[in-house]
Amino acid sequence: MTKSYSFKNLDLINTLFLTLTPIMAIVSTVWWIQSEGFSWGPLLSGIFFYIITGLSITAGYHRLFSHKAYEAHPLVKLFFLCFGAAAFQNSIYKWGSDHRLHHSKVDTESDPYNINEGFFYAHIGWIFLKENSQMNEQYGRDFEKDALVMWQHKYYIPIALFFGMILPTLVAGLFFHSYLGGFAVGALCKLVMIHHCTFFINSLCHYVGSTPYTKSNTARDSWYMAYLTFGEGYHNFHHYFQADYRNGVRWYQFDPTKWLVKTLEAIKLASKLKITPDEKILSARLQMKIEQLRERKQMAMEYLQEIEQLKMRILDSLARFEQMKNEFKARGHEKNKEMKMKMELARLDFEYALKQWQLKAV
Ligand SMILES: [Zn+2]
Ligand SMILES: [Zn+2]
Repeated sequence: MTKSYSFKNLDLINTLFLTLTPIMAIVSTVWWIQSEGFSWGPLLSGIFFYIITGLSITAGYHRLFSHKAYEAHPLVKLFFLCFGAAAFQNSIYKWGSDHRLHHSKVDTESDPYNINEGFFYAHIGWIFLKENSQMNEQYGRDFEKDALVMWQHKYYIPIALFFGMILPTLVAGLFFHSYLGGFAVGALCKLVMIHHCTFFINSLCHYVGSTPYTKSNTARDSWYMAYLTFGEGYHNFHHYFQADYRNGVRWYQFDPTKWLVKTLEAIKLASKLKITPDEKILSARLQMKIEQLRERKQMAMEYLQEIEQLKMRILDSLARFEQMKNEFKARGHEKNKEMKMKMELARLDFEYALKQWQLKAV
């Protein structure tokens, strides 16, 4: 059912806030440049606040609090709660509950940012409507037991104003002698950028890109969206393996959020990073490819059976290799040559089967 944006359905505070802040950002930036002249200080400090606020949404609000993809030191949690609030996207209690509902009811009427209602609705329209201002508490029961989360929920407005508006203005004023530049760039332009980059995850990431892991929902993978969303562009992977701390699962995929979490782990500020086993990821990719082949051409039955068998061989040899690798590691000093040889054979078997797949499944 198409949503109505009639006056009685609108959440006036949200609507005014989201429509006026871009205008204020442009007006204040022009005012700053005309009255004081452009200088790099306020721009660079604005970029700094943009990065820490954006990462607080992706690494904090999204992967830590909503998906529990890892555990973090209370100071890290506090940092993410303060700068996540600075993005003016509501408290984590509300944001995380909505987000979990999105995952559980994706593409249905109950999905708060259902892409089937249209691009505008999934991007920003849903926030204009009163019906989405309500709390979906049942999806955030665990949040109620977290004192830091509930503290942020209670004082969300003053925390957001301080870390989102006052602090960036003060930093630019005190260090670069331009309170106006700090307010224009560090508070307002940053806010508008963060808003729309986050909203792209709900709109464009369900609209453009590929489906390497699943076609059961509209989520898409795209490297270019990853650049706009601190690594969240690999949304097809994320919807299929939502507990994984990575979205860009391959080492070269642009995912600064994953690199931040890994760095936090290295300095003992994060732990228990959840990783999907390689076999599961590969299995999903291969299955997806088989389905694409089935759809694309009228394939002969024997060919499809051959491809299915090849898939099983790839997964079996990978599982065998992983098992031997773990056993080999566990043996400590007792490592022997024979075990190493067997492990190497399993690896070669896996690579050979994969090469055959690349030749046949085209
Ligand atoms: Zn999504
Ligand atoms: Zn998610």
